[in-house]
Amino acid sequence: MIGDAIARGEIAVIGLGRSGTAAARLLAREGGRVYASDAGGGAAVAQAAAALRADGIDADAGRHDLARIRGAALVIASPGVPPSAEPLGAAREAGVRVVGELEVALHALRGVPYIAITGTNGKSTVTALVAHLLTALGHRAVAAGNIGRALSDVALSAERPAWIALEVSSFQLHDTPSLRPAVGVLTNLSPDHLDRYATIDDYYADKALLYRNAGPASRWVLNADDDAALRLARGAAGERWMFSRRDASAAAHFDAALDALVLFDERFVARGSLPLLGWHNVENVLAAALAVSVADAAHRTPNARAALAVGAATFGGLPHRLEVVAESHGVRWINDSKATNVSSARVAIEAMDRPTIVLLGGKHKGEPYTSLIDPLVAHAKLVIAYGAAESIVAADLEGRVPIERGGSSFEDVMQRARAAASPGDAVLLAPACSSFDMFTNYEARGDAFRRLAREGA
Ligand code: ADP
Repeated sequence: MIGDAIARGEIAVIGLGRSGTAAARLLAREGGRVYASDAGGGAAVAQAAAALRADGIDADAGRHDLARIRGAALVIASPGVPPSAEPLGAAREAGVRVVGELEVALHALRGVPYIAITGTNGKSTVTALVAHLLTALGHRAVAAGNIGRALSDVALSAERPAWIALEVSSFQLHDTPSLRPAVGVLTNLSPDHLDRYATIDDYYADKALLYRNAGPASRWVLNADDDAALRLARGAAGERWMFSRRDASAAAHFDAALDALVLFDERFVARGSLPLLGWHNVENVLAAALAVSVADAAHRTPNARAALAVGAATFGGLPHRLEVVAESHGVRWINDSKATNVSSARVAIEAMDRPTIVLLGGKHKGEPYTSLIDPLVAHAKLVIAYGAAESIVAADLEGRVPIERGGSSFEDVMQRARAAASPGDAVLLAPACSSFDMFTNYEARGDAFRRLAREGA
C-alpha cells in the first residue's frame, strides 16, 4: 500500500510530533513526495517543520492545507491525532485512505520479524521485557511503537534490528492494516479510554484488530485468566499459547507450591528472584518469556532457557511503573504515574506490602472508582483525592476508606502525604486518571512526584 501510494502521488503526514516527523523523513527516503502539517502553533511544532523543510520536505506549522490533503494519494496520521481531527475528516470525505505511522515503518522494515504487544495494561512492561529477553539471547533487538520510540525512527536508523518488540495501542491497531506479527501478545482487557471510545465494545473491537491478518503461521500469546481477552482471540487462525497465574495446564504459569514461574513444564525462575513488584508483573514476565520462547525454536533450547531466566531476573522495570523513587525517614515513595486507569491502579494498590497513602486523582476518564474499595481497605492507610477528579473519587470512596481532599496543587498533595506518613509506611502515586488536568503527560506527573519525594528526603 505504501509503495503503491508513493508511486501514485503525494503523501500527506498529519502531526509533527516524534512519530509524524520520523514517518515524513522515512517516506522521503523511500522516494515519496511528502507534505507534512500540524495545526499546533507552539515552538516545538515550528521547529519540527523547519527541520523537515531544511531536509527538502514540504511542511506547514500552524495550519493544514486541506485542499492538498484532499488531493493526496494517502494520508498518514500520527498516533496523537484523533480520528475526529479536521484534516482526517477532510481526507475521508475526499475518499483518501488514512493509515497510521506504523504502516509506513512496517513497510520500510519489511523482513524484520516482530513481536506485537497490546492489551489494556502491562503493554510497555511486556514490550520492554520482550526486548530485554531477546537481547539476553544475543539478538540485536529494540523496543518501539507506543512505548516511546517511534517505529519510523527505528526504520530510519542505519542499524537494522534482528527483532523488534512492538507496543501497539488500540488506536494504532485501528490504523495499521498490514500488521502481521511473528507473535502477537494480548496482555489483558478491561474498560479504558472511555473518554475516546463511545462504548467498551468499540474499544475491544479495535483490540481485536490484532488478529486481522491471522493465518496458519500466526502465533498468539493469550492470558488464560482473562475471559474477555480469550473471547477476543476466538476464531483467529494460528497457534495459541497460554500464560496463567494459576492454571498449571498453561505453557507458562505460576506454580504456588514451587513459588516459581514455570515454562513448558520446567521451573523457569523463582518469584523471589524477579526484581519487579506485584503479581501483575509475574503475569508480565510469563507473557514475555512465553512470547520470546515461541517466536523461534532456537529460543527453547536449554541454553536459551537459561539465558532467558537470567534476563527475567535482571529486568529492573520502567520508570513510572511501581518505581521506588525515595526511601526517607522510613517512608517508601512509589511512583506508578502510569496507572492511568482504574484496573492498573488496582494492581498497584494490591502490590503494596505496607500501610499505604494512596494519591488518587487527575483527569477523570469515565470509570467508577468503587472497584478500588476492596484493595484500599486491605492496603491503604489513607487516600488523598486530588485534581479535576477529586470530588468524583471522593464521592465513590467516602465512608468506605479514610480519605482527604488534596486540591489541585500537586505540591499541596505531596505535603499532605508527607504529613500523614509514618515510618514503615509507603506513599503510592497510582492516580487511576490521566494527568492532563495538571501536567502535560504522565511522565511529567511522575517526574514531579519523584522530585518532590526526594526534596523532602
Ligand atoms: P501500558 O503500557 O499498557 O499502560 P505499563 O506496562 O506501562 O502498561 O503499566 C502501566 C500500569 O499498569 C503499571 O504502572 C501498573 O500499575 C499496571 N500494570 C502493569 N502490568 C499489568 C498487568 N499485567 N495487569 C494489570 N495491570 C498492570
